[in-house]
Order: sequence, then structure tokens, then C-alpha cells
Amino acid sequence: MFAQNIHIANELEELALLLEIDGANFFKVRAYKDAARIIRSFESPISSVVQLENIRGIGTGIKGVVDSILNKQEPEELALLRQKIPQGILEIARLPGFGPKSLKTLWENNITDLETLEKLARDRKMRELPGFGPKTELKFLADLELFKGHKDLYLGGEAERVANSIKEKLLEFNDVGRVEITGELRRFEPLVSQIELVVERKNDFDEKKLFESLGITEKAKKHYLPSGHLIKLHFTDSKNFATVLFQTTGPKEFVEIFDKLDSQKEEKEHFALHNFQYIPPEIRHHEKAKQYLKEPFPELVELSDIFGDLHMHSLYSDGVVSIEEMALAAERLGYEYIAITDHSQSLTIANGLTPERLKEQIREIEELNNKLNIQIYTGTEVDILKDGTLDFPSELLSKLDWVIASIHSNFHLTKTEMTDRIIKTMENPHVKAIGHLSGRILGRRRGYELDWDLVLETAKRTNTALELNATPDRLDVTEELLSAVLSKGVKIVINTDAHSPEGLNNMIWGVMTARRALVTKDAVINAMPLEGFKDWLGK
Ligand SMILES: [Zn+2]
Ligand SMILES: [Zn+2]
Repeated sequence: MFAQNIHIANELEELALLLEIDGANFFKVRAYKDAARIIRSFESPISSVVQLENIRGIGTGIKGVVDSILNKQEPEELALLRQKIPQGILEIARLPGFGPKSLKTLWENNITDLETLEKLARDRKMRELPGFGPKTELKFLADLELFKGHKDLYLGGEAERVANSIKEKLLEFNDVGRVEITGELRRFEPLVSQIELVVERKNDFDEKKLFESLGITEKAKKHYLPSGHLIKLHFTDSKNFATVLFQTTGPKEFVEIFDKLDSQKEEKEHFALHNFQYIPPEIRHHEKAKQYLKEPFPELVELSDIFGDLHMHSLYSDGVVSIEEMALAAERLGYEYIAITDHSQSLTIANGLTPERLKEQIREIEELNNKLNIQIYTGTEVDILKDGTLDFPSELLSKLDWVIASIHSNFHLTKTEMTDRIIKTMENPHVKAIGHLSGRILGRRRGYELDWDLVLETAKRTNTALELNATPDRLDVTEELLSAVLSKGVKIVINTDAHSPEGLNNMIWGVMTARRALVTKDAVINAMPLEGFKDWLGK
């Protein structure tokens, strides 16, 4: 994700939403939404519309809009809609549960900012609006609390890519030496408050000019990137670089253990000088970090330990490329195996597969396996229905190598009902793993409550793996929960849930989330080479 691409995608998404609220044609809205998604995961930074030539899903109209954005002009249609529809409506739209229809209702009733809506809900009057009710009102108040807490935070996975593109640009400057990501992002926090970089200044230069060329703007003494991220650059010289990197990486309590920090060439030297073992940034926040300075700690799972990715989507459901393209991309990452897990029939919004189409897919995978070097497992991400039954019959599931079962609907059930759904699913002998276990979407949706003791006990007994979903806005199983999972001897599978080849690169976030909870390689089933994994699978 490149800063400029994110900016373009955000503008297109806003345009789509405004059009939708304004009652525009469904196909037009969808075209803008699709274009935003394509551009968000575009493989290279977009600097000219020529790069968008011959890309499926990007027509002349959209190219015109992108061209305006690239020329720093507000696209005409967007300008008109921004004048027509109050800005506050867009802020409300960031909360879950507000679709174009309800936003339009708010607009028609002159409720055009979050504060007014909050007051209305607290006065128990939001429920009187057409199409709203007491349940929506209560849910809104609960969501609002979460939203306020996360309002100024960014997803680590998204911020990291932006940070890397800024790093590359900085390295092009003559008077800039080393550049490193630091702070929360270097510690792989799932949510970060800003992007921080340590920049080595070789000669004096005009910071203003540098900021300008990066497209950085200033607001209330803070600096923002075109992607909307708050950015902080720590300028230093080569002598102090390692010290500044160590200090800014934090967290503060960890840095304070080191009594004196003279200038050193490399960060590791600070540890050596104190007779400490080196502690990698991603576990410096851990309560055991201090203890590990002095005693050996377990060998944690590493990215290079991962041999396969067992949750991804293809064109068959809501992915953007063919199975073959996904397989080749995985092979380039050095994987020995993958599983294709498209959605099941009930998930119509994600183009879920009917049994017939799944059978067709199984045949295609058989053919690909004769042709490619990487092992492709047939699979599905089968929906767990409301009552805990699965969206495909057992007879069909038994034809698949790998079944991952996930909840995509009915999040409002009680803790007992949710636990029952998961338990019932794990009892199904065809189910190998539970997908995105807690249903949490960072900043948007809390995970559902489960009776964790019961869930973990059943996972252990039925030998069901629990998925640590590496998508930047999921990253569940959470760090807290992982400790419990490990202590029970339950296995984890770290998957990207990729919908495009680029999505496979999120694996690092899954691995780092596991490391932050001190997960070792032996607890992770896809850290087994093909032969070992085959044994585990019994295939
Ligand atoms: Zn899913
Ligand atoms: Zn999925």
C-alpha cells in the first residue's frame, strides 16, 4: 500500500459513498467501490493514469477522476457532492451499522454530525427515527465508545506499507543516510497512533522542502501524509542513529532499564554493553521482556518457519485473481503448500460457491496440482450457520482436504449461543480449523464473547486448530488469548485470508502477533514442512 494509492482509494470510496447516499445508480456506485479496492492493492505507486490502462474494472470515467486527484484537483463530481452532503454524515458513516439508507434518513432529519446523533441516542430519541429502533440505538452507543477510543489510531499493517514507501522516498535524497521505521510500528502494535521514522541527516537540509516533496502537510503543529497518517520524523546524525532508534522504539519502561546510552554503531551493542541478551522490538512490551534480558527465552516462531498459507480466496468467490495466480504468488514466497478456501453458498454477498461450483473447483485444483510445484489443497471457508450447523453437507466436506469454518453472520447472539455454535462446529470431524476466531474487527467491531475454557477444551479434544488471522484489521486470536491457547496445548494456524496475491504478504503481521505473545514454532501447524503437515492432516 502506497501513500498516494491509499489517498486515491480513499477519495474514490468517499465518492462511492456520497453517490450512494445521494441515491445514484447501483452499478455506478459499485464501479467506484471496485476501483477503490483495485487501487488500494495496486502493486506499484500510481503517478499517472497511463498505469491504469487495460485494467479490468477501471473505465474512462474513473480514470478521469483519478487524473484530477493526481493533478491535485478535486474531482468535479466529488466537489459537488461534498457541497451537497454535510461532512458530518461521512464521520457517522465510519461507524458500523450505518448504510446509505440510514445515513440518508439522518440527513433528511437534519442530523448531520456525530455529536447531535449521540445526544439524540442518549435522550433515547434516536429510536424514533424511521427505520431505527431501541436495539440500533443501544448498539450505536456501544459502538461509539469503541470508535472514540480508536478514532485517532491507524491499522499497523496499513501504516507499515505507507511507512515503507516513505522510507524509500527518503532514501532517494542525497543528504539522507539510513532510514528506519521506529516506535509502535517497529514493535508491530496492531493499532498505532502515528508513523515514526528515524532519519540520518548527512548534511544540513531544508526540512520544509523535504516535507513538501513527500506531500506532508501541517495541521496544529502535527504532520500528516497524503494517506491521512500522522507522521513523525526523528532526524539524527550517523553517530547517534542506533541510540535514537533504540530510544524511539520504546516502550518507555523497557528503555529505562538501560541506565546509560552512549552513541553506538548498532542497537545490539547497547544490549551487549549491559551484558543483556538482545530482545527483538516486538516483545519489548511483554511483561517477561525484562526477565529475558538475563535468561534464555523460547525460540519464537519466525516468518521463515512458515511453509504454507491455509486461508485464501480466488475468483471463484470474492478474491481478485485465479487459483493459479494465487498458487504462483505463494510459491514465490517460498511456500510448499496452500489451501484455497473460497466462501460457501450462503455468503451470497461474497459470491459463495454452490456445491456444483465447489466440485468444479476441486477438479481445477487437481489439474493444477499436476502442473505446479506447490501443493494446493482443496478447501472451503464454510459458514457456520445460526444454529451451529454448516453451510455444506458433510458428504461434500468429506471430499475436501482442508475445511476452515467461520462465523460471518448473527453476531448478536448470546455468549452461550455463540459458544454452542463454535463447539458444535468443532465436533464436526471434517472441520480442521476455526477461522478468524473472535470476529473482532479492529476499531469497528468487538469480538463476540465466548466461554473460552469450553472452547479451548473442545479444540484440544477434537484437534481443531484456531486461526490467527493476519489481516491487519483482524489479528485475532489476540495476544491475551494466545497465552491461554498455548497453555492448553491447542494448535494455532496463522493465515492471511488473502483476496489477492499482495494480501499474502500480511503473513508477517500474523507471525509478529504470535511472537508478541511468545508463541513457539511447535504450536503453529503451518510452520510444519509439507511432510509434517500431511501427517497432521492425515492426507
Ligand atoms: Zn471469513
Ligand atoms: Zn476468508
